[in-house]
Amino acid sequence: MSIRTLSRTRYDRHDHDRNGNFSGPAHMTDIAIIGAGPIGIELAVALKQANADYVHLDAGPVGTTMSWYPLQMQFHSNAERLAIAGVPIQTADQQKVTREEFLAYLRAVVLQFGLAIRTYEKVESIEKRGDVFELTTSKAKLHAKKLVIAIGAMHRPRLLGIPGEGLPHVSHYFHEPHMYFGQRLVIIGGKNSAIEAAIRCQRAGAQVTLCYRGEDFDASRVKFWLLPEIRSMLRDNRVRAILNATPAEIREGSIVLRTPAGLREEPADFVLSLTGYEQDTTLFERAGVEMSGDERKPVYNEETMETNVPGLFLAGTAIAGSPVGRVRIIVEDCHVHVQRIIRALGVGAEI
Ligand SMILES: Cc1cc2nc3c(=O)[nH]c(=O)nc-3n(C[C@H](O)[C@H](O)[C@H](O)COP(=O)(O)OP(=O)(O)OC[C@H]3O[C@@H](n4cnc5c(N)ncnc54)[C@H](O)[C@@H]3O)c2cc1C
Repeated sequence: MSIRTLSRTRYDRHDHDRNGNFSGPAHMTDIAIIGAGPIGIELAVALKQANADYVHLDAGPVGTTMSWYPLQMQFHSNAERLAIAGVPIQTADQQKVTREEFLAYLRAVVLQFGLAIRTYEKVESIEKRGDVFELTTSKAKLHAKKLVIAIGAMHRPRLLGIPGEGLPHVSHYFHEPHMYFGQRLVIIGGKNSAIEAAIRCQRAGAQVTLCYRGEDFDASRVKFWLLPEIRSMLRDNRVRAILNATPAEIREGSIVLRTPAGLREEPADFVLSLTGYEQDTTLFERAGVEMSGDERKPVYNEETMETNVPGLFLAGTAIAGSPVGRVRIIVEDCHVHVQRIIRALGVGAEI
């Protein structure tokens, strides 16, 4: 049955309590989208243009994943590959898009298409009752006939599992260099995030030591404009690198590294552990979505994006699981998901 022929939703204001939370009977919708990253938003535009009945939820603000990127970070993807819903991205300097430009762009797309997104409303569980999905969110219960999970793949840092990792001077997110001014900063990792943090923090006046398990940086995993920069900083001893080293323990004021020459303790006022991120698979487990391999990739039909759970679709980098090696699925690979889902749902108009 086409989604167009499913019953229309009635949105009942009496479902809210005085704090604005939903409290009454569960709201019924044809389609629920979980996740308002770029791909969730692109899908919402297509559904809105097809006049479909849908509800869109996000645990945080629009573009939550990008909001915790480092300030002024430049995407490695080109603007035209990041653009969604046919809306071009223009930058002031015709260079790569920055975090700030992309967040502003996402807000503009949401406003342009008048999208209603229930932000700061996390979906905590999904249960299928007959043909209907019951979603329990941080604010309400919601029933949906079809469900699209567009939750991305970067929910939490990949932990090293060493003592001291939870100490207050240790962070798994690099947000801005200023706080490391004049500090001894040890950065764990040797890919994009770690190299970028090392360059920026050194320039902001930190004494930076990079600690990486490889014997050299892999050019294919570092933005091409960062590699010559870090090599020059290492050559001039502006940044130190300890290669072939893995962290064994973090202590107040130091980090212990395991190196081929044995254990070595390095002073550290702050430690940035930038070793990648993992997907939270709770929703997949609750909904009964099959996952495969060590990376726990959700299984889906490539033509329709539907999973083994009938009526439950995947969009965006949510298909990635938790990659053990390099991150292979990025925004530009995911625009096609929108058309596939629109076709499979039978809502008609394609963007
Ligand atoms: C530093 C850094 C740089 C990057 N640079 C690039 C780049 O140049 N190009 C590129 O393509 N990619 C890049 N990425 C990866 C990029 O973040 C993803 O490709 C992009 O965010 C994926 O979009 P998405 O819509 O699939 O998912 P996301 O943007 O991750 O959106 C998922 C959304 O789902 C929401 N959500 C999750 N769980 C729930 C829940 N239970 N209930 C409700 N909402 C939920 C989240 O809050 C989030 O808003 C980078 C990542 C990092 C960390």
